[in-house]
Amino acid sequence: MSAPTIDPEHGIFVNRTINLRSIKAIGYDMDYTLVHYNVDDWETAAFTHAKGRLLEMGFPVEQIEFDPSAVIRGLAIDLQEGNLVKATRFGYVIRAAHGTSFLEYDQMRRTYAGTMVDLAEDRFEFINTLFSLSEASLYAQLVDLMDEGRIETGIGYHGLYRAVVASLDGAHQDGTLKRAIIAEPERFVEPDPLGVLALLDQFEAGKRLMLITNSEWEYTVRIMEHAFDPHLPSGMSWRDLFEAIIVSADKPSFFTSDKPLYKVVDEDAALLRPHIGEIEPGSVFFGGCAAQVETFLGLSGDEILYVGDHLFGDVHFSKALLRWRTALILRELESEVEGLRSFLPDGLKLESLMAEKSSLEAELSAVRLALQRDRIGYAPPPPGVPADKKKLDSLRSQLAAIDEEITPLAVSASRLRNEAWGPLMRSGIDKSLFARQVEKYADCYTSRVANFVNVSPFALLRASRVDLPHDTWIG
Ligand SMILES: [Mg+2]
Repeated sequence: MSAPTIDPEHGIFVNRTINLRSIKAIGYDMDYTLVHYNVDDWETAAFTHAKGRLLEMGFPVEQIEFDPSAVIRGLAIDLQEGNLVKATRFGYVIRAAHGTSFLEYDQMRRTYAGTMVDLAEDRFEFINTLFSLSEASLYAQLVDLMDEGRIETGIGYHGLYRAVVASLDGAHQDGTLKRAIIAEPERFVEPDPLGVLALLDQFEAGKRLMLITNSEWEYTVRIMEHAFDPHLPSGMSWRDLFEAIIVSADKPSFFTSDKPLYKVVDEDAALLRPHIGEIEPGSVFFGGCAAQVETFLGLSGDEILYVGDHLFGDVHFSKALLRWRTALILRELESEVEGLRSFLPDGLKLESLMAEKSSLEAELSAVRLALQRDRIGYAPPPPGVPADKKKLDSLRSQLAAIDEEITPLAVSASRLRNEAWGPLMRSGIDKSLFARQVEKYADCYTSRVANFVNVSPFALLRASRVDLPHDTWIG
């Protein structure tokens, strides 16, 4: 038999080789990792709740609506300017919107001439997860309202952001939103039986599975029952899959701090009591920290794989501090890969036009140098290059013509997947700032947990060779 073919949409993309055979335990996040929500419905619900809270706080937000296509994961909010920006891996801004209005190229260059997006600065907030789309959309629309003079400017763009976060935190915490989801899980949760099969494969292969979620117990149990139980063999429940269940984990501080662990003693009433000692298989725990998980498992960081969808909350800290192996779940990869695929013929054309353009540009610079040497007389023109003004003019018009062919193709490439912001992983021809964070912290990334079904729990996930700028010269 030959190796199974895997659609690129469902590939597992590897930054650093992982041998799944030597992974003894796998920890899973729940929201947007094991369980995928209908993003538009979830974020619209969050947006609507937050809007209600902003109205109570006195903000004139009656008219604003959530537009799911207006923002993407991987953007940064620039709190100093009231902008949303997309940057390259080096932090250069390549697209920016003030509130909801996109900046013209010159204006963008003036604003960001001396500025790199540095996520460590308080000035920037990164849109890390699909839960943050409503936040970015609310913020942009509040900036518009402030610029229109409908919000007093005293609180500033930083203050607007604090109001947005407070309203969304309130919406997430007061339970109304989650009660609405639990009441109608079939409306919000996208079923994925293959994701359940992936965990069964790992469980039966002897991997020690853990659920480590920031969601509270009452919510976790309803959602996991809904998403998992119908797809498990009869008599088995989602609880049987996991050796350890930790809710309200408070990631990322779960990975960095030394917080007490509580046991949920009455699961129906969600009653807690401090728990001294080890994590016990089969029980539900609350809080705690990653160090206790390592002690419980008796494993070192490189034997533990952690799978989550939050670049900072899940994979950054588990990788940077504990050296756990990490997998990032990015659902948008499916539409991104699909977009790249359908653009392929145009993409190849663009590539060959760019190669032609580079060669014309090189020729043009050589002729300019030949003309300079000829005019001043300090050296002969480079061999084979004419000091010919007419040649220079002809090259210039050829370049102008080729640019006319390139522009529409380059514009389409910059709008793949999202009309306004373009692809998640690319900024122009470079990697996006988001892609840079992914390669730094995620050993591998994939669109959904179900994709592990295609590689088996015994696979060696090998990193592929990485191209460097000099590679293309060597061929
Ligand atoms: Mg999550």
